Amino acid sequence: MAAINIRSDVKDSFYRYKMPRLVAKVEGKGNGIKTVIPNMADIGKSLSRPAMYPCKYFGCELGAQTKHDTKNDRYIVNGAHDAQKLQQLLDGFISRFVLCGSCKNPETDLVFTKDESIVRDCKACGQRTDIDMRHRLVTFILKNPPPTAKKSRKSKKGGSENASEAGDANGVADGDGSDDELTRRIREEAAALPDAPLHDDDDDDWAVDVSEEAQARRMREIESSLNTTLVLGDDDEDEDENGDSGPTAYDKFGEAIEKNIDMSDAEIIAKAKEFGVFGKHRAVIVLVQVIFTDKMVQQIRKRSALLKQFVKTEKDQKSLLGGIERLVGIKYPNMMSKVPAVLKILYDDDLVDEAVVLKWGARASKRYVDKDVSKKVKAAAEPFLTWLQEADEETEEESDEE
Ligand SMILES: [Zn+2]
Repeated sequence: MAAINIRSDVKDSFYRYKMPRLVAKVEGKGNGIKTVIPNMADIGKSLSRPAMYPCKYFGCELGAQTKHDTKNDRYIVNGAHDAQKLQQLLDGFISRFVLCGSCKNPETDLVFTKDESIVRDCKACGQRTDIDMRHRLVTFILKNPPPTAKKSRKSKKGGSENASEAGDANGVADGDGSDDELTRRIREEAAALPDAPLHDDDDDDWAVDVSEEAQARRMREIESSLNTTLVLGDDDEDEDENGDSGPTAYDKFGEAIEKNIDMSDAEIIAKAKEFGVFGKHRAVIVLVQVIFTDKMVQQIRKRSALLKQFVKTEKDQKSLLGGIERLVGIKYPNMMSKVPAVLKILYDDDLVDEAVVLKWGARASKRYVDKDVSKKVKAAAEPFLTWLQEADEETEEESDEE
């Protein structure tokens, strides 16, 4: 199947987002002549839109009747239309109803807002951008809402399949009564943030998974500036590698991941071994900074197994926390309010021990970032640190009673 870039203006053959080239078959004749699009369903899948949307869009643009039979994946536009023409029209559909209006990433959901307008909710940059409500397709979308739009409204009680899948698999903040207080606090803080687009729908924040593609895309954008912050200076007195060859290997490791952004966990481990940094605590600092973005609350769960392979010792744990400190402190200060959530996931997934986190949080350090920045990150971590201490005290009280 011929795959083409979802964004036709992007000529890069390594562009992550592909869809099948549209196929059109003219059937019948005379008044009954029609164009069947046999791969409409696959195209819809690639765009994360119901296939009837682009099909109906063709109808709107061509002034033609359309038919869709979703059960049998049959999508028809009346009249004879060639594939090239439809492909061009599809381009218009993509820029109007798929691509993020801000960053042009195609990983968006259509979300119905309270005032009955439709926005594109971007998983890559978090922006919500309006669609042109005057287009005739809008009426059709309102009548046939995308499954994702329903989900984002109904998933609050864990009703959506995707949401519960993601939640259950990681067991974060669901079903465990002791988490409620922290969860509530974290949500409150997130809600207070002006840049939290899902402020009224925070369950999504815990449950929705962000694909690797979205992270990868984001990573590319920050790539150039990131390179300079991958590795620490030589303030690391416990360094256990040769000072001269070390940084280069770490840089190479980080760059390799950035270049091959869809690397699997196993491939990343292989790369680390190739560059001789596997098992080194500094590799953790690099890893954290290249695989996570400001969506790290969701991303960490996905990479938890990978992190486990890298984080074995207390030193590794410190590097993990240090990497997070750099990421939040330098790259994504807008993530400050998510620090407790991030720490909670790391803790729940046994990636950091209580004692190590408490020690890390106890004082600002200039080891990974400026001392002022460190202070901010640790202040942001406070709700989690308090919760951890309280949970600890409760456990002690219980055991005293026995
Ligand atoms: Zn975007």
